[in-house]
Amino acid sequence: MAGEPQADCLFCKIVNGEVPATVVRETETTVAFRDINPKAPTHVLVIPKVHYPDAASLAAAEPGVAADVLREAGQVAADEKVDGEGYRVVFNTGAGAGQTVFHAHAHVLGGRGLQWPPG
Ligand code: IMP
Repeated sequence: MAGEPQADCLFCKIVNGEVPATVVRETETTVAFRDINPKAPTHVLVIPKVHYPDAASLAAAEPGVAADVLREAGQVAADEKVDGEGYRVVFNTGAGAGQTVFHAHAHVLGGRGLQWPPG
């Protein structure tokens, strides 16, 4: 069923505690944890607890939870004190765009200068 945990999903395993993560924030609907391979001084992933393969399918099925993810991304930036200087929220969508984990997630990146356009 849509949104149900997937046995073979790494981020579902982080949600249920099967795989450890450095959690920085948690709400009823979301978890935020540090990326294991950070690309910036602040690199936190915000994920919904429900399983959808990408941000677009999450937003289509559960727009309220998608809004929760965006709100939490802003809270992470504030907690990390990168909101003043500027930060980036990225949803890689599809393998061609660099998505490697097919459970919706926002990257929150900050703490250094960020180039535009991204590579
Ligand atoms: P994607 O490439 O946009 O799908 O992002 C997946 C992210 O998950 C990458 O930045 C990985 O470094 C990160 N990642 C993979 N495994 C783990 C983990 O076990 N803990 C935290 N981050 C992870």
